[in-house]
Amino acid sequence: MDKYDIVIIGAATSGAYFARKTAKRGFKVKVIEKLSPETLGTRMDIFHVTRTDINTFEMPDVHEGDPAWAFEFTENHFSSPSNKYNFFMKAETVGLHMHEYVALMVKYAQEAGAEFEYGAAFKEFIFENGHIAGIRYETQDGLKEVRADVVVDCSGSGAVARRALPNGYGIENFTLADDDMFYVLLRYAKFDEKQINTFWLHAKSWYAPFSMNENEKIIGTGAVGSFNNAERTAAKLDAVVNQGNFELVRTEKGTTPFRRPPYSLVADNFIVAGDAACLTKPDCGEGVTSSMVMLDIAADVLEAALRQGRADKKALWDINVRYNKKQGADFSLVRAFLTKLIATVSDDELEYCFANGIIFNEKFLGDMKASPADALQSLKGILSGITGKQVSLKTVSAALAGVSLALMLRTHYINFPKDPVKLPAWSAVADRLWKKVGKLSED
Ligand SMILES: Cc1cc2nc3c(=O)[nH]c(=O)nc-3n(C[C@H](O)[C@H](O)[C@H](O)COP(=O)(O)OP(=O)(O)OC[C@H]3O[C@@H](n4cnc5c(N)ncnc54)[C@H](O)[C@@H]3O)c2cc1C
Repeated sequence: MDKYDIVIIGAATSGAYFARKTAKRGFKVKVIEKLSPETLGTRMDIFHVTRTDINTFEMPDVHEGDPAWAFEFTENHFSSPSNKYNFFMKAETVGLHMHEYVALMVKYAQEAGAEFEYGAAFKEFIFENGHIAGIRYETQDGLKEVRADVVVDCSGSGAVARRALPNGYGIENFTLADDDMFYVLLRYAKFDEKQINTFWLHAKSWYAPFSMNENEKIIGTGAVGSFNNAERTAAKLDAVVNQGNFELVRTEKGTTPFRRPPYSLVADNFIVAGDAACLTKPDCGEGVTSSMVMLDIAADVLEAALRQGRADKKALWDINVRYNKKQGADFSLVRAFLTKLIATVSDDELEYCFANGIIFNEKFLGDMKASPADALQSLKGILSGITGKQVSLKTVSAALAGVSLALMLRTHYINFPKDPVKLPAWSAVADRLWKKVGKLSED
């Protein structure tokens, strides 16, 4: 039977990225992918990444004319529920065709020495002395086995390997519930006139390009719970911003995790990453490069462990510590605050904030250069909103509770235990905090 240092399940953005990073370090890497090269990455057409991220993660750099390149833009507006007030942020952003781009990422990984097998679907783990020693997978030629020091689950939100682990193996094996996911409806639309790229927080909806033609936009809407919820929210947005005045080119649907990640991302001879680990950004559900933040850490820690002939939980633990100190802590803060805020704030209250430049303005959310004087100005606005009954005390106290929970969670994640033995006590506190945060609902 073949023996590898690393076997990765899933050859999309997370799997292909990690395969390249680890193969470049000289490890023997195999990726199994249930789809074929022709269908890999066809789950959706367009996704976005910033030019900064392309450079930071040394992703394939594509430009106009390359098959994977779709468009570029720099301005993203934020609009009030009535669409009357808005401000914008700037970031050089590239729209990419997922299928073509993943093919490029696979090519780079193959050039680094990683092997890919398509039409190969994870079936079960092989355990030896209670530890993972490899996997069995289905192919059209029947069941095959492969041995590895480490198995990495990059299988997307289905998390086929993480969920197959027995209770008590050291990693949470939960399945995403309906309210753990954003159901995303993407309507590719042609308008008679130029439209600007916009995000509407109250409707969790946005206009984003799908070509360089400014009359063509994807109308995206996300909602927890179901696609029906997303459709209802999309209709609410249409009624205010476009009255249905566009030609629908096509529709895409997909889900993206909106849930805290498992407390540990590692177990003995096992790592989970990407959507399988719910590493998506809490403010927008994007997950391609947020997964890479974790995978870069994982590549460093795994290399050090394997060079010592180890891949046990303790040797991999620093992945948790280092990830949670950075992105894990920041995402917990944003997730907690947004969950509390969105659950309470009304459209009228948001409108009042936009109209009066309270928090929803370019200084706070645009260039992030709000001064103490700006903060005081926003506070004054909130207080006069309470007096004038444009903002309810209930919302202000929920927002304050959100801020306080968000800060507590951030600190808790920064202090993630360095010793795996301390995880249960740390998790008990985290559980209590997340319970207070609650979950989003569309009611
Ligand atoms: C509509 C929509 C729009 C989005 N837009 C953006 C965006 O603009 N920017 C952004 O950064 N993110 C975006 N996201 C999120 C982003 O798509 C995901 O976070 C990212 O693609 C996750 O990558 P992944 O490799 O972890 O998982 P996936 O892309 O889900 O890949 C998992 C791979 O594992 C394979 N697999 C599954 N089961 C098995 C098995 N049993 N055996 C072997 N292989 C298996 C699958 O076939 C697949 O190839 C969007 C999501 C949605 C739904």
